[in-house]
Amino acid sequence: GETVTLSSLVTWLSRFRDLVTENRNYLTELDSAIGDADHGANMARGMAAVMEKVGASPATTADELFKSVGMTLVTSVGGASGPLYGTFFLRFGMTAGAVSEFDGAALSAALRAGLGGVVARGKPELGDKTMFDAMSPALEAFDASVASGGSPAAAAAAAYDAAVVGRDATTPLVARKGRASYLGERSAGHLDPGATSTAFLFQALAESLAQ
Ligand code: ADP
Ligand code: MG
Ligand code: MG
Repeated sequence: GETVTLSSLVTWLSRFRDLVTENRNYLTELDSAIGDADHGANMARGMAAVMEKVGASPATTADELFKSVGMTLVTSVGGASGPLYGTFFLRFGMTAGAVSEFDGAALSAALRAGLGGVVARGKPELGDKTMFDAMSPALEAFDASVASGGSPAAAAAAAYDAAVVGRDATTPLVARKGRASYLGERSAGHLDPGATSTAFLFQALAESLAQ
């Protein structure tokens, strides 16, 4: 299969920055319904800081790049999402290692490690109405595509489709993690903001690998 370069992963990050910036008000509206109305601001601020850091000191290997991305998110975002996405990228980089190219299997392993970081940090389970509800099915779809011989680009497109389905399935759920869980039954009937930003994460990956 095709090879994914470090520069297409930098494009992934910058496209994610663009999507959370363009959708900042939308993410904040979602968080105003079941949280504290800061998810758009958190993600836009965090990814702006990430891209400033990446631009200032370009990395040559994935472990360096994603360590810097993860640390920047953990330190620049106050909310739950900073440590969760930060840990996702930190673990992604640790598993990727000192490489500058990936095949589908290597990308899958790094993404899996990232998901494991989210689980270690937030203890989300499927159906808790969190970013995990978009991320977990996205990785299942990514792996299924790679296993059936799909290119990284095809796997990322499948992952994005699954993330959207997972995101939309959060609407009727009652939140069991994070601030939205304080609302109990009143959290039902609203999309989860973090699942929505996670769908943007996979949209960005699909678009950057399709180029
Ligand atoms: P905060 O809730 O601290 O203001 P954000 O608004 O930036 O942080 O992020 C909220 C999102 O974080 C939620 O929509 C949810 O997807 C995610 N989240 C919160 N707690 C957890 C958790 N324990 N595990 C996984 N995801 C979580
Ligand atoms: Mg919030
Ligand atoms: Mg907050």
